Amino acid sequence: MQGNGGDVMDKNRFKEIGRAVQNSLGLNKHSRYVREHFFAANMKASIYMSVVVIVLEVWMIIRLTITVVKNDLIDDLPHLFEKYYSNYFMLLGAGTAMLIYAVRYNLGKRDKKWLGLTIKWVFSFICIYFGITISAQDYAKGEQILTFLTMELFVVCLLIWRPVTGFLVLTSSYLYFFYKIDNMPAFNTGTSGLTIATQINGFTMWLSTMMFCIANYNKTMSQAIKDENLEKMNSHLSRISMEDELTGINNMVFFRQEAQKQMEAAALGEKAVYLFFDIENFKSYNQKYGFHMGNELLKNWAHILVEAFPDSLVARFSDDHFVVLTYDDDLEAKAEALSRKVTQLQGEVSLQLKCGAYRPADVQCDPSLACDRARFACAEIKKHYNNSLRWYDKKLEDKLKLKHYIVNNFDNAIDNGYIKVYYQPVIDTATREVTGLEALARWQDPIHGLLPPGVFIDILEEYRQIHKLDICITEQVCRDHRQAVDDGKTVVPVSLNFSRLDFELCDIVGILKETAKRYDVPKEFLDVEITESALNDRQDLLNDAMAKLHGSGYKIWLDDFGSGYSSMNVLKDYEFDVLKIDMKFLAGFGENNKILPIMKNIVELTKQLNMVSLTEGVETEEQFEFLREIGCCRAQGYLFSRPVPKEQLSELVSKGVLTFSKAYGPENKSTK
Ligand code: C2E
Ligand code: MG
Ligand code: MG
Repeated sequence: MQGNGGDVMDKNRFKEIGRAVQNSLGLNKHSRYVREHFFAANMKASIYMSVVVIVLEVWMIIRLTITVVKNDLIDDLPHLFEKYYSNYFMLLGAGTAMLIYAVRYNLGKRDKKWLGLTIKWVFSFICIYFGITISAQDYAKGEQILTFLTMELFVVCLLIWRPVTGFLVLTSSYLYFFYKIDNMPAFNTGTSGLTIATQINGFTMWLSTMMFCIANYNKTMSQAIKDENLEKMNSHLSRISMEDELTGINNMVFFRQEAQKQMEAAALGEKAVYLFFDIENFKSYNQKYGFHMGNELLKNWAHILVEAFPDSLVARFSDDHFVVLTYDDDLEAKAEALSRKVTQLQGEVSLQLKCGAYRPADVQCDPSLACDRARFACAEIKKHYNNSLRWYDKKLEDKLKLKHYIVNNFDNAIDNGYIKVYYQPVIDTATREVTGLEALARWQDPIHGLLPPGVFIDILEEYRQIHKLDICITEQVCRDHRQAVDDGKTVVPVSLNFSRLDFELCDIVGILKETAKRYDVPKEFLDVEITESALNDRQDLLNDAMAKLHGSGYKIWLDDFGSGYSSMNVLKDYEFDVLKIDMKFLAGFGENNKILPIMKNIVELTKQLNMVSLTEGVETEEQFEFLREIGCCRAQGYLFSRPVPKEQLSELVSKGVLTFSKAYGPENKSTK
């Protein structure tokens, strides 16, 4: 095992060394970005180089021509042309071609790259060739070595070559140059060729130019890599700032920006519709198949949406929510088709696609607001099974306004005493006496009148403000109890409705105990109702809270039993004292034959589980009679009384419409 590990390490080390050698020779593969960077740097350097060369050559041509004219050397022209003019013109031509290409490149005109590379190579060779010939021609006079050196510096140091290319270009040009001068009689020392001093000087020159070439390459290379990394990081950042991480489609930052731009293109803006999609019951899918599969479903779904709206703007809003800004017609048909696609993805969980649509009245409409309205329309058809598309209309607009009013005025309503407790009696089926009361919240608003909890509970839960309501109701119930006791009136236990969120948002059990203590309300006079649906999430918190409530002697009622899907599990997993059978069961009373045996069995079950049974929504004598027959202990409903303020309740009692159970009469000492 260890031997293998050592082998692997050796191999890696060799690879590393190999890579280092490759890099230093410039044999490694360059990324596209680095290649572009080098090319751009070379094009910039080529401008300086070609301008200097052009100016120099023009000057040389003029100077030579003046000499020719002044000294009447016309007859020498063929010789002069061969020796000088041809070189000058060749260099001038190549320099001009290089200049034109490089300037165009720097101005952003992207001509063929191979053309640029060819010109660069040709120009470089001509420069070197020129340097060699001019220098070699006049070398004998002790002049012109500088032309060779200048050209070498121009080509090999100003331009960037890979070290290996630089080495080849430089070495071959030096060798050729020295070969040429070695053959010159003036410098040829006979048998031994160039002097040792010239050879050493030549070698030193070669070495220094080579060093320049390598240093230039490395400097540009490290700059190119730095720039490349920066560029990569920037493009990654801008991509993630515009892209939804999970699905890869647009995110809301991009959606809002783009929607605004599109809307401002007025011609399109008038036809625009915002759609909000929600996959109902997606949570159950996650629970059944796990988060990984849930994510896969969302990815699939995102791409289905993008395909369904190819010319529209599609983005993920959050979770299983998506938004689309579209100009398509016949959205109803599209929503239907998409609904069917969602059903194909659902597996064993029933998924329902819901879509809200909003057509903005004007193109200035803020995309966030538009999405909000489409979302509101979408929420409106939740749990409406045959409905997959809902338009935002006037009715919804009023509802949304009320929602905003509730959110913005709830704290005020508590402070101003607009939140009231109404009491609905709970009847003992054996005696028809009032054995308890349920506290139900009402919002007596100066503008909107009496608001039932159905209007504001969901909103308060959505905005995580519900605990404030339940604390306020607990306070009032305890205060009413204290006052009734102080006034010598009969008091009965009151049940409080606690939201599942109370257990998350505050220490509701602690608050209940503290309030009861402050008003001196015995624990037998306060019960807590928890709805069945509350038991689906945060079971840890709920278990904890229920243990605390039971530990402190409070009774816990299971509200709305049978309204959800997990009723039996709830009975198995939690301890309840009272089971409140949902009013849905009685709604079909007399029409649906199955209701009677079902209720009979539920009541039977409560007996076996040592629970008290209570049925809500009792509206007729027949229903009440039936409950008595099957042994349901308690009943609650409009048949006895609607929820009413405490004053009205006292009136009903004093008129004899309602009678409090003897167990709680003033003569019973346990009440205090
Ligand atoms: P719930 O706890 O199941 O309350 C029973 C609801 O049924 C009450 O509606 C009551 O007025 C209504 N009801 C009673 N008898 C009948 C009947 O015979 N027929 C019909 N059709 N309806 C009947 P309400 O007062 O509108 O309350 C609705 C729900 O709001 C309550 O359902 C409860 O879940 C919630 N709620 C009410 N007050 C509070 C509160 O203070 N805190 C919390 N968290 N929730 C509350
Ligand atoms: Mg209740
Ligand atoms: Mg209920």
